[in-house]
Amino acid sequence: MIVQKFGGTSVKSAARINNVAGIISDAARAGPVVAVVSAMGDTTDYLLKLSKQISPKPPARELDALLATGEQISIALVAMALNQMGARAISLTGSQLGILTESVHSAARIVDINTDRITRYLDEGLVVVAAGFQGVSSEGHVTTLGRGGSDTTAVALAAALGAETCDIYTDVNGVYSADPNMVATARLLDRISYEEMLEMARVGAQVLHPRAVELARKNRLRVRVRNTFDRNNTGTLLTGAGEMEIYRPVSGVVLDRDQARLAIFKAPDQPGVAGLIFGALAERRIGVDMIIQAFHEDRSVNDITFTVRRDDAQSAFEALEAAAKELSAEGVSVDEDVAKVSIVGAGLMDRPDVASKMFTALGRAGINIKMISTSEIRISAIVSEKDAERAVKVIHDLFHLDE
Ligand code: ASP
Ligand code: MG
Repeated sequence: MIVQKFGGTSVKSAARINNVAGIISDAARAGPVVAVVSAMGDTTDYLLKLSKQISPKPPARELDALLATGEQISIALVAMALNQMGARAISLTGSQLGILTESVHSAARIVDINTDRITRYLDEGLVVVAAGFQGVSSEGHVTTLGRGGSDTTAVALAAALGAETCDIYTDVNGVYSADPNMVATARLLDRISYEEMLEMARVGAQVLHPRAVELARKNRLRVRVRNTFDRNNTGTLLTGAGEMEIYRPVSGVVLDRDQARLAIFKAPDQPGVAGLIFGALAERRIGVDMIIQAFHEDRSVNDITFTVRRDDAQSAFEALEAAAKELSAEGVSVDEDVAKVSIVGAGLMDRPDVASKMFTALGRAGINIKMISTSEIRISAIVSEKDAERAVKVIHDLFHLDE
């Protein structure tokens, strides 16, 4: 059995839906297929915009009811295209698929999948065309999994059904050593470990949603990223790092422009200060990425610098200003012209020289590093937005990622 997933660009028009139906019906000749599809093109963005014209803050339940319709259009059309080609197919919405989620709107997690209905149709020889991105709560409300959630639907269905492979079809050939639109010599990776992919997805690689990667890793599922428009390309295979004998120290460079840097200066060095600041951000549901606390010579005060998504910058700034007042801190600042450049590689663990090489090369190129954070297999640096693309190229060259 195989689960295939097709993203929004893959089903953007009638012609593209016919192309996708061709891929699905070919796979269906070899065995049972569940095809998960996203909403056509920018439909979800369009629906969001439409809702804002009606109400700036619509009820979360109704917003999910609206957004879920995007995928309902594409599944019906894909099923029609399959039937037209002579492949028997049936479309199923999230609740018809038996995807039970938490009772939360706009970012619900999957609690359980009752596969009875899917299995019955597959046994009858039908292709199941599944709506991505949606489920149903135990109260029967339509829920959505958060933007980009169709990847998660596909991987979760593959795990629940015991599928051998989950093919994620998108508009690029797979996972690259850097964004090929930015670095002409970027190389397509034939394999990548779950851990590396997870880090890449978290630091801004758009090709797979991090939640889907995490779920694939947990279930040790073979996930392939493939190109809808180039079926002969075998794409990138996600596997366990254990299956790879030689790790590359650096597999890829990722750029994330969706960053803003905030700082609070000379906050008192006392218990509870960080709790107050980040509590205020959490209350506004602002996720914080890097955090650096630096002490001053007199040791009674600290500077705290952190990054958030650019959309959250202004709201974070307001929260920080209020916190600064309460703490009698000296001041606050926000800088939206920053970007995060990260290198990811499972072999980084054993290579302490990699970080120093990266920083030295950026320094030689006259690129100033504003913040640094690391994990076992990732090194990230915040740089000026204007330097970001150059930083990616410098690093790509430095580690010969084209080879
Ligand atoms: N259509 C949804 C979105 O645009 C889900 C997805 O594409 O994965 O976020
Ligand atoms: Mg989409």
